[in-house]
Amino acid sequence: MAEVLKGKDVAAAIKESLTAQISEIKAKGIVPKLGIIRVGARPDDLYYEGGAKKTCASIGMDAEVFEYPEDIDQESFEKAVQEVNDRKDVHGILMFSPLPKHLNESKIRQLISPDKDVDSLTLGSAAKVFVGDKTGFPPCTPQAVMEILHHYKIPIEGRRVAVLGRSLVVGKPLAMLLLGKDANATVTVCHSKTKDLPGVCRDADILIAAVGRAKMVKADFVKPGQVVIDVGINEDPDNPGKYCGDVDYGEVEPIVDKITPVPGGVGSVTTAVLCKHTLMACKRQNGL
Ligand code: NAP
Repeated sequence: MAEVLKGKDVAAAIKESLTAQISEIKAKGIVPKLGIIRVGARPDDLYYEGGAKKTCASIGMDAEVFEYPEDIDQESFEKAVQEVNDRKDVHGILMFSPLPKHLNESKIRQLISPDKDVDSLTLGSAAKVFVGDKTGFPPCTPQAVMEILHHYKIPIEGRRVAVLGRSLVVGKPLAMLLLGKDANATVTVCHSKTKDLPGVCRDADILIAAVGRAKMVKADFVKPGQVVIDVGINEDPDNPGKYCGDVDYGEVEPIVDKITPVPGGVGSVTTAVLCKHTLMACKRQNGL
């Protein structure tokens, strides 16, 4: 039976550390604040927003939601984002994406200052992650994967890691973090054109799945001794109304050494990372 790497325990450890740091910073008269920009009211945005606000409240961090109608025009929205960005009391900004199609999202993203870009929406942040500049925040999800590996003291240096998926929000930045001088993994990034995917995945010491395909990673993708991290959040085709990962947990768990569950794995750590980034941003903006 595999050891289950619980995201809740990782999030609890991060939140404990943040709570202590926030109470110190509040004693100096500074209250860290996350600004959440939302256009419309998509259920998944509202769900994530609720979780983020709850996490912020639990650690003593402020959160303010800036909500705009679905039909807001480009000029008005640019002005609104600029205003949020200019607010001295907002230290980190999360903007839900995708924006409605009539808005030029790539232009709007760049209005966020890199020092407030706590979820890597701007090209500047992506570039910093690419070159290993620590002043750039990686997206919260790949950082959550790194937090899980560190929390459970899983050796990374010199080990072979297969990252399944090459998106800009998960796969690519995660590959950069793993390849960086802090982690020193040997990284293979797989995608829909990768040949012999099960063989490539089986060859890894650590397999990280971020494909967005329910239960795609089967028994033939893994081997004994492996660590499997499942980033996927999909509707479970076998249990309507429930979620499942990219890994077929039932098939894979009996074979591997360690595995994250879905739900209760990577997703549980993401909002804690968002708060961690916001506190870091707040400290930097106040010269602390
Ligand atoms: P995405 O943008 O759709 O990217 C999926 C990647 O998987 C692409 O690189 C794609 O390859 C690859 N892929 C798709 N089908 C494949 C196949 N059959 N064989 C090999 N590769 C395949 O998805 P994403 O945004 O990265 O998200 C991935 C998963 O993570 C989703 O389930 C999402 O819900 C979840 N997620 C979770 C969190 C969290 O907090 N836990 C946050 C964000 C996302 P190509 O590039 O060749 O098309």
